[in-house]
Amino acid sequence: MPQTELIAPIHAADASRLIALAEAAHTQKADLVELRLDRCVAAGAQLDEMLDCIRRFPLPTLVTNRHRAEGGAWPGGEQERLDSLLRADRAGARLIDVEFAHCADLPQAGLQARLVLSYHDFTGMPADLAGLAQRMFAAGADIAKIAVTPQDGADLAHLEQLASRCEAYELVAIGMGPVGLPSRLLAGAWCAPFTFGRLAEDDHGSAPGQPTLRDLRKLYRVPDQGPQTRIFGVLGNPVAHSLSPLIHNTAFIHHGIDAVYVPFQVSDAGAFWTACNAWIDGLSITIPHKSALLDHLHGIEERARRIGAINTIYRDEAGQAIGANTDADAAMTCIRSQVGNLDGCRALLLGAGGVARAIALALHKEGARVVISNRTLARAEHLAREIGCQAIALADAPTVDYRVLVNATSVGMNEDLSPWPADEHRPGAAVFDTVYTPLETRLLREAEAAGSAPICGLSMFTLQAVGQFERFCKIEAPAHLMHRHALEALGHSPDHDCGHEALVRAD
Ligand code: NAP
Repeated sequence: MPQTELIAPIHAADASRLIALAEAAHTQKADLVELRLDRCVAAGAQLDEMLDCIRRFPLPTLVTNRHRAEGGAWPGGEQERLDSLLRADRAGARLIDVEFAHCADLPQAGLQARLVLSYHDFTGMPADLAGLAQRMFAAGADIAKIAVTPQDGADLAHLEQLASRCEAYELVAIGMGPVGLPSRLLAGAWCAPFTFGRLAEDDHGSAPGQPTLRDLRKLYRVPDQGPQTRIFGVLGNPVAHSLSPLIHNTAFIHHGIDAVYVPFQVSDAGAFWTACNAWIDGLSITIPHKSALLDHLHGIEERARRIGAINTIYRDEAGQAIGANTDADAAMTCIRSQVGNLDGCRALLLGAGGVARAIALALHKEGARVVISNRTLARAEHLAREIGCQAIALADAPTVDYRVLVNATSVGMNEDLSPWPADEHRPGAAVFDTVYTPLETRLLREAEAAGSAPICGLSMFTLQAVGQFERFCKIEAPAHLMHRHALEALGHSPDHDCGHEALVRAD
């Protein structure tokens, strides 16, 4: 099966800029450039000059002159638009793209270039995608490109079915926008002849949601994917900010595993899982879906059942989907790295949401004397009753003589706020912040200044991912490497000290 090729869309107002962009695409390891004649001419370029560039490009060319009705910018007439494609063919284009809706007006006899017939829907997707593809091939398409807009993650199932049932034909099934992003990142697994990636210097690309060439090649390894590639991802909403694709793909690459991990932005987790689970090997689950799939799985690990939330779905030996929660173990490893044995140790936990619940249960199980405090006291009391520990109002929490303070609220995330008064820190205590954006939260800075030992949440993030990876792949995760990549992605040196000792298995 031929490899999926990466195409960089380019346009410019003059030939020298256009050639420079084609050279950048070559440097960034595109296989082809897509010359957007409509955008060039709309920006003031001369058509003849643009067509002349095709022979000067260092890469083969797909030429597109997009109709305005399908998102194009061509300022001229329709006959002139179709003529420009015939001229591009004579100028040496490898592929020319014409809209399926307008292909009858383009004489196909004698074309040297291969013909891409394209279909765009910027607001939804037609019900009969397979019928549409058939009509496109019957109309002469060498390659059919169907770009639609999925409304929610479950719609990806229609694109996957379209791609997987199209083995005899060359078809590119693209979901536009953040919900559709996996269709671009899985182009190789879905056997597409090509997919589009933007240049590093291009902020938007030629369509909503286009990833960079670099990510397509290096992180998602699209040209190396095939129908056998195992598919994993993170399920959440929002999910674009997640570091999980970076660190899981890094681990797959490290071990040479033929698998890819993509972000699934999904509103209705149940509908997504029902529609798509047949082709998904495993998932990380994040906010707000940690409790949404408990009834959809074959089994739930005991700890996750007690917590009432999962952050992982993996397959057992029989291929059945099992839910797990790796947050609690990850947090315990971090806390133990500073505190040691937790038996009898007083732990003050701020928060009563999902993560607080996981940590409270784990602390209690290790023998810690847990006190829960939360903005909404009733939630703290409810959780405390269930676990069999104490709850306390936030205003009274400073009276607690804690050995370890844990922030399991979202206070401090992407803001310089602390959930704890600066003058109430205890010298010699340990302070663990589950928040890791930023890495050095106000809580940790103030704790350190007061003589407490700070433990940053990134180690927990890495370790919960390690627990997921080891369930996904049944081999040891490269924890240290995953952690270093996460640190770099957050703008820190990979050697930044943020509780590395918690990462017990440096590789
Ligand atoms: P959640 O279920 O939504 O719970 C949020 C908690 O934060 C609740 O206790 C809530 O109090 C409290 N809170 C929110 N805004 C507050 C405010 N302005 N002042 C005081 N308390 C406030 O979220 P979750 O899933 O437990 O996640 C909590 C945090 O854990 C996340 O924000 C994330 O930073 C962190 N986390 C870290 C990792 C990691 O690997 N390091 C993994 C997962 C999550 P109320 O009950 O009063 O609303």
